[in-house]
Amino acid sequence: MLNLNFPTTPDEIAAWYERGRKALPGGVCSSTRFNQALGGPVYGSRAKGARFWDLAGKEYLDMSMSHGATLLGHAPEALREVLDIAWERGLLCSLDTPFHIALAEQLCELVPCGERVRFTNSGTEATLHALRLCRAHTGRDKIIRFAGHFHGYHDFTLIGGHPPRDHVNDQPPYRESPGIPKALAELVIQCEYNNIAALEEAVTLHSDEAGTILIEPVDYNCACIKPEPGFLQRARDLANQHGMLLFFDEIQSFAKKSPGGAQQDFGVLPDICTIGKSLGAGLPLSAIVGPAYLMEKFKPTGPVAHSGTFNAPLLSMLGGLAFVTEIRKPEFWETINRLGERLYSGLDEIARNSPVPVRFQHHGSRFSIILGTREPVTRYQDALAHQPELMLAFCREAAQRGVYFHDYGGSACHHGYSSAHTLEDIDRVLNVVEDSLRTIAPASA
Ligand code: PMP
Repeated sequence: MLNLNFPTTPDEIAAWYERGRKALPGGVCSSTRFNQALGGPVYGSRAKGARFWDLAGKEYLDMSMSHGATLLGHAPEALREVLDIAWERGLLCSLDTPFHIALAEQLCELVPCGERVRFTNSGTEATLHALRLCRAHTGRDKIIRFAGHFHGYHDFTLIGGHPPRDHVNDQPPYRESPGIPKALAELVIQCEYNNIAALEEAVTLHSDEAGTILIEPVDYNCACIKPEPGFLQRARDLANQHGMLLFFDEIQSFAKKSPGGAQQDFGVLPDICTIGKSLGAGLPLSAIVGPAYLMEKFKPTGPVAHSGTFNAPLLSMLGGLAFVTEIRKPEFWETINRLGERLYSGLDEIARNSPVPVRFQHHGSRFSIILGTREPVTRYQDALAHQPELMLAFCREAAQRGVYFHDYGGSACHHGYSSAHTLEDIDRVLNVVEDSLRTIAPASA
C-alpha cells in the first residue's frame, strides 16, 4: 500500500484521476486543487526547492509555493534535522514539550503584539478560535470586516469577503457558500477597505453590538491591496475609542516582508493577531498571538474554550522552530529582497509594454496579478475590473512553459517566491510572464 507505483503515462494518470473522483469529491482534498485553468487537479509526484514535478514527470518552477506555506522552499534542509528529532522523541502526540514553549517564546519576541501564543493547525482554526476570544472579551457578537479580505473557511468569516459584483452591497452581507446559516450574516458588518469614512460610520453605528475590527492588513487575497497611509492607525484609534479589539489576520502577511508581519511593516499594533502559512516551514502550523490580559482568557487561566487532540503536534513545532531560526538570519531577508527587487522591477517593465492591460501589486515575497486594468487597485470595487478568463488563460500558458501560477478559479489572488528561488529562476519567470501575456493578448480584444 505504501509502495504505490505512481502512474506516469497519460493513460495511467487518467485512470488514477478516475479512481480519485470515486474516492474524493472532484478527485481532490481541497476545492481549489481542482485547477480550472488546467481542467483538473495537478497531482504531484515530488518537490524540492523552488520546483515540483507532476505525475508525468513535468518540472514546474513553482510560483505558488503552497499558497505561501513553503517560503523556505520545498523540503528545506532546515527541516531534515527536525524530522529526525520528532521520530527520536516518539512523535509525542497530544503532549506539550519544551519545544512548544521555546517556539512560543520566540514568536513573542518576533511579533510586536505577542505576549502569549496558542497554536492551531490551520489559519481557519486560528481565526475561528481568536474570534471566540474576542467575543468573550468584549461581550459583543458582531464583527466589522472588509470586502476582499479572507479569514478562512469557517461560517463566521465566509460572509461578505468576496461577494460577486451584484451582491457587493447586500444587507446582511453575502454568504459565500450554501450551508452558512442566515443568522450568522447578521453578525457581520461589511466595510470597504481603505475607506476611512466608511469605517468611521460602521464603528459609530454599531459600537453597541460590534466588538472586533477584523483586518487582513495586506489584502493578499484580493489583489495584494496595501493599507493606505493612516488607515490602520485610524482603525486603531477607532477601536480604542469604542472599546473594540483590533484583530489583524496575519496568516499570510506574517514573515512576508519582515519577521514581525504587517504590524511591524506598518507600525500599528493590533490587540490580537493570527499568523500561519509559512510558520511551519511547510508543516501545518498557525497561531493566535496576543497580549497576556487577553490570551489568558483561554482556559485554563480563563473561561474561553480552546482545545483539540491535534493541537500543536510535535512535528509542526519543530517545523516552526526551524522556520523562525531561518527568518532571524539577515541573509534570509537579503535573499527575499534581492529576488523581490528583480521580480517586481521586471514585472513593472512588462506591465508598461504588455498588450494586455495588467497590473502587479506586491508586498514582500507575494504579489497579485490583476488582468484587465492598468490602474492601481486600492479597493475591492477596483479589483472587480479583473478578468478571470484572462487569468485562467494566463495560468494555462505559463504552466505550458513550465512555470506554475495557481489559478484560484481565475481570481486575482496571490502568487509568490521562496528563499529557494534564484535570480535565474526569477529571470525565467519574467520571460514566461511576458510570453504568456503576449499569447493571451488576442483574447482580450
Ligand atoms: N486568513 C488569511 C489571511 C489567509 O490568507 C488564509 C489562507 N489563504 C486563511 C486565513 C486560512 O488559512 P488556512 O488555509 O490555513 O485555513
